[in-house]
Amino acid sequence: MRPAQNLKPATYTCPFCGKQLASMSEHVLIAPEDDRSKRRHAHMECVRKARQAGRLPTRAEWLETERGPQPSLSERLRRLLPGRESGE
Ligand SMILES: [Zn+2]
Repeated sequence: MRPAQNLKPATYTCPFCGKQLASMSEHVLIAPEDDRSKRRHAHMECVRKARQAGRLPTRAEWLETERGPQPSLSERLRRLLPGRESGE
């Protein structure tokens, strides 16, 4: 999930409420990092509600679901090194 804002006018259908969404308005793009074809444009408000309801996994949770229960190498390293944020 990352912020998205297009400059060309287009409309998408929000996967959460099923209503139309203008690309010019502020919204978010949700997609697994390894498969851009699955990306969906969604209202920021709908995504926030879905997250509060626990219906939208974070990117890490999503990838875990798609690839199985095995945590990625970087995820395991992060757990082994508490307090060390990568890249900071
Ligand atoms: Zn919506």
